[in-house]
Amino acid sequence: MSLSEYERRRRFAVTPEPRPKKILGAAGTPRFVIQKHDATHIHYDLRLEMGGVLKSWACPKCVATPHYRKKLAVQVEDHPLEYLDFEGEIPEGEYGAGKVEIWDRGTYETFADPLGALDKGVLTIVLMGERVRGEFSLIHMKGKGNSWLIILNKTELLNPDLADEGRAAPMPARITPMQSFLAAEPFDSPEFIFEVKFDGVRAVSFLGADGSLAIRSRNGKEQAFRYPELANFGKMFLAQEIVIDGEIVAVDVRGVSRFQLLQGRMNLTDEREIKRAAKETPILYYVFDLLYLNGRDLTGLPLQRRKEVLERVFIPHKYLRHTDRIESGGKAFFNAARELGLEGIIAKRKQSPYRQKRSRDWLKLKAVQEQEFVIAGFTEPRGDRARFGALLLGLYQGKDLVYAGHVGTGFSEEWLRRLFALMLPLEVAAPAFRDAPQPNEPAHWLKPELVAQVKFAEWTRDGVLRQPVFLGLRNDVRPEDCVREETRLAG
Ligand code: MN
Repeated sequence: MSLSEYERRRRFAVTPEPRPKKILGAAGTPRFVIQKHDATHIHYDLRLEMGGVLKSWACPKCVATPHYRKKLAVQVEDHPLEYLDFEGEIPEGEYGAGKVEIWDRGTYETFADPLGALDKGVLTIVLMGERVRGEFSLIHMKGKGNSWLIILNKTELLNPDLADEGRAAPMPARITPMQSFLAAEPFDSPEFIFEVKFDGVRAVSFLGADGSLAIRSRNGKEQAFRYPELANFGKMFLAQEIVIDGEIVAVDVRGVSRFQLLQGRMNLTDEREIKRAAKETPILYYVFDLLYLNGRDLTGLPLQRRKEVLERVFIPHKYLRHTDRIESGGKAFFNAARELGLEGIIAKRKQSPYRQKRSRDWLKLKAVQEQEFVIAGFTEPRGDRARFGALLLGLYQGKDLVYAGHVGTGFSEEWLRRLFALMLPLEVAAPAFRDAPQPNEPAHWLKPELVAQVKFAEWTRDGVLRQPVFLGLRNDVRPEDCVREETRLAG
């Protein structure tokens, strides 16, 4: 075996990667490593200890999974054994520039003389890692240069130690996403983990054993067709059946999620428009909870455990990401989030089960005041403004719709036109408000069917918005679910 190709491509004075040692070879069970490599594209490098070196393949979508039993694996140069432990940042401009992290490692078994099998182009291995357990075949694609296929032969071994998590149950057809209360102020607590609060749309995904995928919004509407980026969903899970909770976002140049950016995606229905928008404004799906896995309902498990299991079965890639979390230290995290211009953070109690309702086990801390409101009227325009002046907003208190203020800014020309067209058919004679407001301009009343996302500075003492700005429409929220987000103290 030769490492000359490995040495030729690298400048060891610059890269932190290991320089091969002259004495090679190891005894005992052969080892393997899968490194997540965030280079030009996120990919995964599979390396098998064999003949004193690491035989290596770059796998664009990681190893084969139950729903995608064949994946591409491109053989690359042999790497030195020291690479089994390598993690680090390969500097820009160097070969393979980007972050390398160990994603899985362990030992593997193989059936015959592995080097001979490799030469013949068919190698069968059983990976015994922390994440990946299973029998795979590596098959050289004849006439395709360095291209191989990695094929999942047997799924029996996948996640054997996760087989008893939760309780046996059929896969749910519908989940009401767990929601948070608003906390008064940031806090530190060892009982909570803290995550970024995303400014997008909540999405619960259901991957069936037959490969079917449903992605549902808060009000239960199907969303998968809107996001072609997620067509590969099943490729990224080492599991047959899964229900995942997360949030679909569109991010700005700094990587901060913006509800306004997602507006260009969340209302489209035309297939061609969806494809074009997916190129212009790609989404990311941040997953943060695992509710169901391979015939087992996990909602009764503590959050901490659900997250551990999620990380074991999930393969992050370009559009599907794992939500980072920090343990304790909520105040510092909140301040960092505010400086980054994030909407806020969310604190989740480590020991809490998943409840399909609003719960005090999840607490949000907002750096920016923002929530959804029912549109129950509009005023006539003033000056040179066309169509309408302001939207009259309401929130439900029990069965009553209570006036919450009017929003007259944040509308582009296109929004003025689109909203007006949506509002006209909803016009009614009598206001839906319990106590109708008396604005300065003549008011038109609407059936309370549209939901607006509005940012604002604060609530006045008499319960009206100060400095509200319109951000967009929400088609994922039912009007009757629009209530004033109340402040609850933690613990
Ligand atoms: Mn690589």
